[in-house]
Amino acid sequence: MTFTPLTSDFYGFATDLTETEQASLGQIRAFMEDEVQPVIDDHWHRDAFPMDLIPGIAGLGVIGAGWAESARFENSAVYRGWVALEMSRIDASVSTFVGVQNGLVAGSIGVAGSAEQRAEWLPKLADCSVVGAFGLTEPLSGSDSSQGLRTVARRDGDEWVIDGAKRWIGNATHADIVIIWAKDADDGKVKGFIVPTDAAGYSATKIERKISLRMVQNADIVLEGVRVPESMRLQEASSFRDTARVLRLTRAEVAWSAVGIMIGAYEAAVRYSRERVQFGKPIAGHQLVQDMLAKSLGHITASIALCVQVSRMLDEGRQADAHSALAKSFTTSHMREVVGWCREICGGNGIVTDYGVARFFADAEAIYTYEGTAQMNALIVGRAITGESAFV
Ligand code: FAD
Repeated sequence: MTFTPLTSDFYGFATDLTETEQASLGQIRAFMEDEVQPVIDDHWHRDAFPMDLIPGIAGLGVIGAGWAESARFENSAVYRGWVALEMSRIDASVSTFVGVQNGLVAGSIGVAGSAEQRAEWLPKLADCSVVGAFGLTEPLSGSDSSQGLRTVARRDGDEWVIDGAKRWIGNATHADIVIIWAKDADDGKVKGFIVPTDAAGYSATKIERKISLRMVQNADIVLEGVRVPESMRLQEASSFRDTARVLRLTRAEVAWSAVGIMIGAYEAAVRYSRERVQFGKPIAGHQLVQDMLAKSLGHITASIALCVQVSRMLDEGRQADAHSALAKSFTTSHMREVVGWCREICGGNGIVTDYGVARFFADAEAIYTYEGTAQMNALIVGRAITGESAFV
């Protein structure tokens, strides 16, 4: 598959990828442009996830690769970042589906599961014969989930009994398993459990009327005396530190996703500015429009550079929480400016999805908030700068 670096990758960072990685990205781009793009706005308006695309997504080979044997991803973090960018450039909901299935669910089992758990679940997650969800956030605990979880797991012989509630859990209405993070009633430490969604006492209700990432099926989950065997407890997760190990992997990918959203909106705005004529010439020829496009490209270019480096640091084993937190807060904040400028360039047409910018504009809001809000990520960076924690 041929791969041409995007013109919006202005400094050509993607040319540093290997030929194999470029070929694989070419395949992903073709799938996103040919299979996803044509159906996406309709699904977005109906807030329905295109379930029939899941086998095609699995066929791209981007989920769970390498975990089973090596307890780490086979592909480099830099490559995985470009995957998130290419997917989000067309649609952030499909990218979020992969982020949950691969980063959060396969990631939890890959990072914190035993060899047996990895062998059992990761191949099924990789081919999407099992769809997963990641249940950390609760109705009463979002940013403070490191300490505020109310969901409790009680040991009862060879089983655990889980009671509590989760909110915002992506894929949860159609998932087969959910990773539930709960406090052990005995030691108060956060532990992870693989909970089958057909377990007695488990229910998930779709969150309706979202204005962002409408295709992602987010749910409120209730757990009432849900029983799982000890073999379903993630064997290498003994406290929230282990949850944080998973989030450190995925947060950098969300930063990449923000760049993809910027690029999707920017490319649509460039197209529109060439076609839309005002005062006798395309608006692309007006100085203030060019200023917004140039500022957008500047944000995109700076964000790619930052993402490439933070992913390299992950590959080299020297990425700390503050590094991925800075990437997430920087790119998502800049994304908000870019989608705003791009929407502005399209005038009134910027608020209808037919012109290619409005969906990115709306979806950006959820990306800005999930996996740690911009403020919480800034506070993680602030703690690294000052040595003072402003939030715990
Ligand atoms: P809150 O924590 O209530 O925060 C509200 C505001 O207060 C924010 O602006 C926040 O930055 C600010 N704030 C809070 N504390 C401080 C502080 N100490 N200092 C300064 N400001 C502060 N969760 C999952 O577990 N699994 C999922 O699959 C999942 N998917 C999601 C998908 C979508 C579309 C969305 C919107 C959310 C998803 N989430 C998921 C939840 C997401 O991670 C949380 O929404 C996020 O962590 C923020 O929590 P909250 O919404 O409860 O906001």
